[in-house]
Amino acid sequence: MTNDQPIKRIAIFGSTGSIGTQALDVIEANPDKFSAEILTAQSNDELLVQQALKFNPNIVVIGDEKKYQKVKEALSSTDVKVFSGVKALEEVAAMDCYDLMLAGIVGYAGLRPTLKAITSGKPVALANKETLVVAGDIIMRKAVEYRVPVIPVDSEHSAIFQCLVGETRNRIEKVILTASGGPFIGKKPNYLVNVKREHALQHPNWSMGAKITIDSATLMNKGLEMIEAKWLFNLKPEQIQVVIHPQSIIHSMVQFEDGSIKAQMGLPDMKLPIQYALAFPKRIPNNFPRYDFKKVSSLSFEEPDVKTFRNLQLAQDALQKGGNLPCVMNAANEIAVFAFLRNRINFLDMTNVIEKTMEKVPFIEQPTLEEYFESDGEARNFAADIIKL
Ligand code: NDP
Ligand code: MG
Repeated sequence: MTNDQPIKRIAIFGSTGSIGTQALDVIEANPDKFSAEILTAQSNDELLVQQALKFNPNIVVIGDEKKYQKVKEALSSTDVKVFSGVKALEEVAAMDCYDLMLAGIVGYAGLRPTLKAITSGKPVALANKETLVVAGDIIMRKAVEYRVPVIPVDSEHSAIFQCLVGETRNRIEKVILTASGGPFIGKKPNYLVNVKREHALQHPNWSMGAKITIDSATLMNKGLEMIEAKWLFNLKPEQIQVVIHPQSIIHSMVQFEDGSIKAQMGLPDMKLPIQYALAFPKRIPNNFPRYDFKKVSSLSFEEPDVKTFRNLQLAQDALQKGGNLPCVMNAANEIAVFAFLRNRINFLDMTNVIEKTMEKVPFIEQPTLEEYFESDGEARNFAADIIKL
């Protein structure tokens, strides 16, 4: 980006989350390149107001309608427009006033606003992987139809995306997604059954929101990422491999037809893939800490233990079978993680809830968008019934 290029106006959906706040750090460090045009939160009105006072966006949306009045009053001395409710997220996503959506809402809730951005012709920097897990075929088809780029933010997919620069004419043999293994690497079921939420929330390498941190501990996160990779890079299931790499320095790799493997490396810091997605296709300088080859003695790799971490096996089954199964799995997982975070079920119960829900909800080979919504609802109800939520 040269100095005479206009400032890119960013709509941060989920601005109060881990991804959202780090995106605001990137924007703050580059005021000549980016502005925060839209900020949204679900219930954290205080942080949303603080962000609005600091970044002076055009619009804020608070999902929880009970908090609308509070936000409105807190911003009454500014010209920030305040909206509220689920519908407002979609309405705002369709507005003309921004150039790029950063999709940083967690879970299924991110799907509709992201889809709306795409069908409004807005490029999307996608952190919200659940959107692609639920309805990846429709999302990617719409992106082609509306000619909008979907730029990955997830570190593994950003790595693959970066490895593919300059390779448009070359076929991918396979991609290798790296996984840290989470806090319970090497543990067996007799240990995992007693794991408490506080322990599961301690990720060794990354600091993230609660849901994805639990997904990383169960390895469901890597399963979601396999499905995300399938849609982003148009891959067959057998072209996607997972390898455990506890140091989280190699963020993922692409192997080409000649056997050559390209990797993208760096310290584990989400600000880098966020900044890359916001500034794409340009790299911009920053002062993030650099990886030092003298300090880390070895990089290691091992097979994931899918017999212990069965969520990864379930996700691979869903990836293979396709249809509405990834959507059903995702819904059951969201309910299971919610229940685990509230100490309603134990660590291994999460897998049982997901497995039973996947067996129960009728399979649809080529769902419409409406059928995805229905499958999501059915799976949530069924999973909640098992847990007696
Ligand atoms: P957080 O839980 O930290 O933040 C989620 C954001 O979404 C918050 O702004 C939250 O608002 C908002 N939100 C929550 N529920 C709803 C809802 N029902 N409707 C609208 N908005 C809602 O999550 P993360 O930032 O960790 O993750 C965001 C997404 O990015 C996830 O899909 C995750 O898988 C993906 N991702 C995250 C990474 C990370 O390092 N954190 C890495 C790679 C991918 P409020 O604060 O008010 O609750
Ligand atoms: Mg990731």
